[in-house]
Amino acid sequence: MNKRNESGTSRRIHQIERQLDDLTQHDLLRRRRVTSTPCRASVTVDGRNMLAFCSNDYLGLADHPALQHALQEGAALYGVGSGASHLISGHSRAHAQLEERLADTQAAYIENARALYFSTGYMANLAVLAGLAAADPGQTAIFSESLNHASLIDGTRLARCAVQVYPHADVDALESQLRQSQASTKIVVTDSVFSMDGVIAPVAELTALCERYDAWLVVDDAHGFGVMGNRGSGILEALNLRSSNLIYMGTLGKAAGVSGAFIAAHGSVIEWLLQKARTYIYTTASPPALAHALLTGLDLVQGEEGMQRRLHLHSLISQFKSAFQATLGNQAGGMTLMASATQIQPLLVGENQVALRYAAQLFEQGIWVPAIRPPTVPAGTARLRMTLSAGHSSEQVAALIQALHGLQKKVA
Ligand SMILES: *Cc1c(COP(=O)(O)O)cnc(C)c1O
Repeated sequence: MNKRNESGTSRRIHQIERQLDDLTQHDLLRRRRVTSTPCRASVTVDGRNMLAFCSNDYLGLADHPALQHALQEGAALYGVGSGASHLISGHSRAHAQLEERLADTQAAYIENARALYFSTGYMANLAVLAGLAAADPGQTAIFSESLNHASLIDGTRLARCAVQVYPHADVDALESQLRQSQASTKIVVTDSVFSMDGVIAPVAELTALCERYDAWLVVDDAHGFGVMGNRGSGILEALNLRSSNLIYMGTLGKAAGVSGAFIAAHGSVIEWLLQKARTYIYTTASPPALAHALLTGLDLVQGEEGMQRRLHLHSLISQFKSAFQATLGNQAGGMTLMASATQIQPLLVGENQVALRYAAQLFEQGIWVPAIRPPTVPAGTARLRMTLSAGHSSEQVAALIQALHGLQKKVA
């Protein structure tokens, strides 16, 4: 070891440690809690029994016996690892069957729909934006909603084309950007349900606008697939939208209870992504057993059980909102319940430190709710993000309200 090297290393380590201290100073240091039970309403976390309102397992399927069984069956049929990327030898019958089923979910809304299954939604979003931009190099512009998910933001960066951010839900501002754009390929991209706010994007208006300006509309339905629509097919079903400009992204690790994601689009778009999307091509295919389990996941989502679970979830959302209104009002101890009609119910707190304090107080009472801080949300808008699931009971939602009530008293 030469001395200069050693001190260079320690200087760099020291710099990283200073940055970490800085995060701590600003109440921005994140830590992981360790769970030792399956994802469900009632979990053991850091050795304690807690009632959890954190997960995106919106239908409560992550621990479903039929899914557990299907995963075991998938492992018996296909083994564990896929062994290679999809384009080499990792594409199994289970993946192929899953893609057919996924395409079917969007076939009524997207012309000539085909689907491509990805290991994660993050990768799917990188793929779709970079892939579409690569089809018209130098001539593409992306119009990105200001509250979009980090993976879409990274997708716009990877697309290496002109990117304009339009203000949240501002269809007029977007229209003027589209009108002024000279790009020959225009791509508008939005979350359907904003993950940290719970509000729904004006997807019907956006679809009409994109038809008028001949633009693609990429809709990230991570929080809609499985939850919205009669059959749980998501936002396009819920709004009964039909357009050849639509490109749909749904995730399978949230309401569908397993993992992965898919893009559904016109068959030629899918063929292009399959040829060009680097996050599809240069990565090992996810285990076929997961795709096999997802076939059962889709059966559950689309069947009678899924329908019952969606009904239950929606009744919990109404219960939570009206009980909150009744006992805490809109403003409670400096907290504002955000205007969300979805399973994502954030309570705006403001300061990071206060959000952490509230989350800690709830944790003391056996309720697990995450404090969401920048950069996930803008500075000064730290919040408690509660997510409801069909796995919760009405009594558990009442216990949450009770605990929030206790918070208010402590800080008042
Ligand atoms: C969760 C999420 C993703 C990423 O999906 P993963 O499968 O978890 O990688 C993308 N977009 C939104 C809006 C999400 O909430």
